[in-house]
Parts: sequence; structure tokens; C-alpha cells
Amino acid sequence: MNWDGVMSNSSSIVAMRSTNVSARVLTTTHIGAPVLDLYEPRTVAEVSEVLSQHPTPAILGGGSNLIFPDSPLQRVVMRPRLAEFSVDEHAHTAFMPPTTTGRYTKGSEVGVLALADEVPMEGEFVFVTIGAGVPWGQAVQWTLQQGLLGLHRYARIPCRVGGAVYNNIHAKEHLLAEHIAAVQVVHPERGSYWVSASECSFGYDYSRFHVSGETITAVQFALVHPNEDGHLVAAKEQYRLWGIEKARVQPSEPNAGSVFQNLDTTIQEQHGVSMAAAGWYLDQLGAKGTKEGGVMVSERHANFIIAEEDARQEDWITLVELLRKRVYEAYGFFLHPEVVCWDEQATAHRWLSSF
Ligand SMILES: Cc1cc2nc3c(=O)[nH]c(=O)nc-3n(C[C@H](O)[C@H](O)[C@H](O)COP(=O)(O)OP(=O)(O)OC[C@H]3O[C@@H](n4cnc5c(N)ncnc54)[C@H](O)[C@@H]3O)c2cc1C
Repeated sequence: MNWDGVMSNSSSIVAMRSTNVSARVLTTTHIGAPVLDLYEPRTVAEVSEVLSQHPTPAILGGGSNLIFPDSPLQRVVMRPRLAEFSVDEHAHTAFMPPTTTGRYTKGSEVGVLALADEVPMEGEFVFVTIGAGVPWGQAVQWTLQQGLLGLHRYARIPCRVGGAVYNNIHAKEHLLAEHIAAVQVVHPERGSYWVSASECSFGYDYSRFHVSGETITAVQFALVHPNEDGHLVAAKEQYRLWGIEKARVQPSEPNAGSVFQNLDTTIQEQHGVSMAAAGWYLDQLGAKGTKEGGVMVSERHANFIIAEEDARQEDWITLVELLRKRVYEAYGFFLHPEVVCWDEQATAHRWLSSF
């Protein structure tokens, strides 16, 4: 990997650039060609500096929801590395979570993980800000060290804070937006500003950032300082157990998390099928072990595809379409992929809508 410093015209801003970086270190599946041109800014000023030179970079977080193309991306990639942590305000008695829009699938009744009882979220609100480049697990651990509840619900997710907000990560019936107060962004023309959570159009696997052209640089969370010490102990234990449970049921080989979104319950009602998680339908159809080139449906969990050393994006797309076809033929509805495949322009692959 070659490192070149890119000096700002105006001040001491240095945006770090690297070239020819392997997908192995940028994504959780390791699939795809190397990134030719990668910028990793560590401050808002550096993000602005990169955007002034490259106004529409492909933005990368933990690479846990993306499959890179088999030929190199033709766009510059920016991976924000902002790593701040701060406690902003104590003792708020109220916080109104934003309304979520779009698909919002509640926990399904069949095929979901067992989870210990919910920890009561009773206490005062404390506002904290965390940089977009912080690995998710580190962010959760820090909030628990501060004695705060909320993020403990989202265990064992190999994303970064920016990517978590972009997709509004979910766990069981919870969406991350329940704990978000505001998001700091940089836009190539409008500069840096804060967006309140109510303006973020949060939905299931969705936020305004899918279409806004804004780079997320930091997030302000509204977390709960419990009025009983026992609740913090219980939250830490819940986080630990949830992580162990996910490690037990999910594959350890390179993967990109759940391949398909859970269904909107209205679709399940319309088709008169079990109120199950997406993987359950695939399991019923014997999908585990189905192989295409270097990728295979995990033997451990039917909603996970694992990638071998020589896996290609082309294999991934072929296997996903095959699984969608099987489900459509058996149940009459389409599963919608949660994992995004980028083409060489970092545009999301469009999945077939009929077979
Ligand atoms: C083992 C495993 C377990 C998982 N478990 C869960 C789970 O329990 N719940 C869940 O919801 N998801 C889960 N996922 C999926 C994944 O972690 C989420 O989709 C997450 O939101 C992706 O974040 P990321 O930082 O990895 O983003 P990336 O995959 O790098 O990028 C995803 C999208 O976010 C955009 N993006 C990233 N950072 C920024 C930024 N700073 N500003 C603007 N746009 C940005 C990218 O451009 C891209 O479009 C899991 C994945 C894996 C591999």
C-alpha cells in the first residue's frame, strides 16, 4: 500500500490518500478488485478538502454491506476516519425519537434468535457524539463504559458509526434511529452542518443519506442513564449474550451479514405464509450449501452467503438471483437484497423484478 499526503491549499489539512488497496482490508467478504484511489480523512476539514477535489466520491464505512465489483472502481473512494467521542449534555428528561418511514418489519415469529428480556430504558437522557469512523463495537463499549443504555441492543455488527446510521441498523424489533438525536454531515456544495433526526427520513434499512449526497461525519445519540445500577449490569450482559448468540448461529467465514431483508408483514399476510424471517423461507427450500463459483449459502444460516478466497461479485449476483427465483416460484413474492453490489461507478446493482 502506498501512502501519499495530500496537502490542503489553505492550511495544515492533510487528507491521507492510499492507492491500490485490497478489498480484503476494506470489506467483510473480501470480494472485488482493489480500490485504486482511497482517501481517509480524519476531521471535518479534511472531509471538506477531499470533497473540494472529488465532489462525488464513493463513501465507505466498515464495508460490511457492500460487494465491490470484479474490475476496479472508476471513482475515488472516501472512508471517513473521524474518531471523536464526547459527552455533550446530561440530565435531559425527555427525548422524542424520530418517526420512521417505509418498511419496518417487526420481529418475526418464526426463525428468529432468542433474546434475553429487554432491559428497561428508564432514567435520564444523556447526549453523546461519536465520530462516523469509529468501529461500531468500540462505540457500544464506550457508551457502556459511560454507564449509558441504548446501543447495547446492536451487538456484533462489523460496521462503522457512519454506516450504521446510513442504513439505520436494526436488531430484533429495534431500529438505531430510536437513539439518534442529530447527524453531522458534509455536503460538497453546502459545507458542514447538523441534520436533526426528524429530518433524516429513517426507515427499515433506509435514511435520507441514501439519496442526499451527504457524507456523515458524526452522530449525536440520545442514550439513557439508568436510574437503577442493575439495569446497566443487565444491559452489559444482554450485549454479551446477544453477541455470543449471533456468533453461534451466524457463519464465521467472510460474509456481508443477512443477504435479504425481512419481509413487510403485510406481504406475508397477502401471501398467507408464515410470519418468518427471510432465512426461514430459504431454509425450507433447502438452500443451505447451494454454491455458485466462489460463494455458497452458509450451512449454518440460510440468509448468509459465505465467500471463498476466489469469490467474484458475478458469483454473488448469480447466486442471489437464483435464491430469489426459488423463493418466488415457491411462495409468490420477491425477497429484497439487503447487501448492495456496486458496479464500477459505485452504483447499486438493480435486481430483477420478474423471472
Ligand atoms: C457479520 C455481520 C452482521 C451484521 N449484523 C447486522 C445487524 O444485526 N443489523 C443490521 O442492521 N445490519 C447488520 N449487518 C449489515 C451491516 O453491518 C449494515 O448494513 C451496516 O449499516 C453497514 O455499515 P458499514 O459501516 O459497514 O457501511 P458500508 O458497508 O461500508 O457501506 C454501506 C453504505 O453506507 C454508506 N456509508 C458508509 N459510511 C458512510 C458515511 N460516513 N457517510 C455517508 N454514507 C456512508 C456507503 O456509501 C454505502 O452505501 C451485518 C453485517 C455483517 C457482515
